[in-house]
Amino acid sequence: MHRIYENNEIAVFWNSDNCIHSGKCFQESPKTFNPGRKPWIQLGVASNPEIWKTVEQCPSGALTVVSRLGVDVVVETDKCRSAAYDGNRLVGECDYRVTETGWIIYHTEVDLDYGGRGIAKRLVYTVLETAERNDVVVSATCSYAVKILNE
Ligand code: SF4
Repeated sequence: MHRIYENNEIAVFWNSDNCIHSGKCFQESPKTFNPGRKPWIQLGVASNPEIWKTVEQCPSGALTVVSRLGVDVVVETDKCRSAAYDGNRLVGECDYRVTETGWIIYHTEVDLDYGGRGIAKRLVYTVLETAERNDVVVSATCSYAVKILNE
């Protein structure tokens, strides 16, 4: 299961397949990480530095974090994509094809000026989470999305 949680400054990714239930996250930042609550990750209660530090201590890599840097990522199901915007400017997208058996991610691209900021990961996670929440099977031919799926 792939989930992405965002506030104004950071985006936290969680891949449940990699979680070894060490308990480290909810020991370090219990206001943010609480397995007895839905959603179990809530940003905006603890400080972002505390959350960042906690994520970095996840022993399995199930949690990761990037700065949002003013770029918004949204899902646009009418266009079969997730899209990244800096204001009104489209700076990245992750496109999928709808088939009888599920969604196939075939293209992920971020403007060169915006590379290295974790935007591609946010784009792919947004598609994965949307598909998973709708019980849609998702696969990929795009090499970047394949890498995220296999992380
Ligand atoms: S620290 Fe990482 S591995 Fe441990 S419970 Fe939290 S998410 Fe799972």
